[in-house]
Amino acid sequence: VLTMMLGILTACGGKNENTAEGGEAAESKGILVGVSMPTKSLQRWNQDGSNMEAALKKLGYDVELQFAENKIDTQVSQIENMITKGAKVLVVGSIDGSALSTVLESAKEEGIKVIAYDRLIVNTEAVDYYATFDNETVGTIQGTYIEEALGLKEGKGPFNLEITTGPLDDNNVNYFFGGAMNVLQPYIDNGQLVVKSGQTTKEQAATTNWDEQTAQARMDNIITANYTTDKIDAVLCSNDSVSLGVQSALKSAGYGTEEKPMPVITGQDCNIANVKAIVAGDQSMSVFKDTRALADKVVEMVDAIVNETEVPVNDTETYDNEVKVVPSYLLDPVAVDKDNYKELLIDGGYYTEEEVAAES
Ligand code: BGC
Repeated sequence: VLTMMLGILTACGGKNENTAEGGEAAESKGILVGVSMPTKSLQRWNQDGSNMEAALKKLGYDVELQFAENKIDTQVSQIENMITKGAKVLVVGSIDGSALSTVLESAKEEGIKVIAYDRLIVNTEAVDYYATFDNETVGTIQGTYIEEALGLKEGKGPFNLEITTGPLDDNNVNYFFGGAMNVLQPYIDNGQLVVKSGQTTKEQAATTNWDEQTAQARMDNIITANYTTDKIDAVLCSNDSVSLGVQSALKSAGYGTEEKPMPVITGQDCNIANVKAIVAGDQSMSVFKDTRALADKVVEMVDAIVNETEVPVNDTETYDNEVKVVPSYLLDPVAVDKDNYKELLIDGGYYTEEEVAAES
């Protein structure tokens, strides 16, 4: 927890490196935008929230920014409060994408527009737009990284693989897991990849709330039950928090030495702790989703909604929320490893060299 808090402090220490739109707030237009984020416990949502708040204020919007600490009831009451305060647009990074129908239907009745942020909101008519990174591509990038690192295309193997993904109530997990397994499943089927735990379904590989400790405990059990003599060659981890948990379990089991090197391990978000792990050689790669770009795009969408101009979208087919296809703007995720992190994250101004080098 301390490491995590320090990570957050380092990343959000009142500076503007991670902020899309630093600088002064413009004079208020008297229009309120509600921004509801799932939790502060993961670095990225802090960045998402503060980037959006700054960019909206710069355009003269009033902002109500709330974090729901991964509690569905808290998120619902925070959104109710935003509605009561007269928000014109709601930007919602949902905890459980299917648990907001009632509150969002009351927003719709008030004429409030809703943008689903990063995670699709499902089973409701009351969501107008969706902005995210191409979630399927995130999975494809992770699967392809493992495929290339192990030389699977060249027919190498068999290798031992294990799989850790996120919670089943996060719609993105379908795409992260699905995109990666589209690449890896053929190699499981032909025996080049062996999942000794047998845990190959999304349900078996799920991690409630993307929780690091939960992922660690599950990997501890998998190692104890299956790898007393054999070693693990790769772990598909759908994001950075579960990846850190998996890395801790592996290290407790003696991985990370010359005789027993760390497996190929994926991640997503380029959290500072994980970038350090990439530099240290504990994690192979992460997927960079520039939260500055997402916040900028969503602010553009908000502004277009308010000004009644055309709202930018670039995908009107993929994200069916079971009631309708939600018009979406998808940004491109990028693979990051030790060879390109400097260029993408440091030269790109996302982190300073000191932040990456600092002791965690
Ligand atoms: C986001 C990821 C994030 C995860 C955990 C997902 O919905 O797309 O970027 O790592 O949630 O917060």
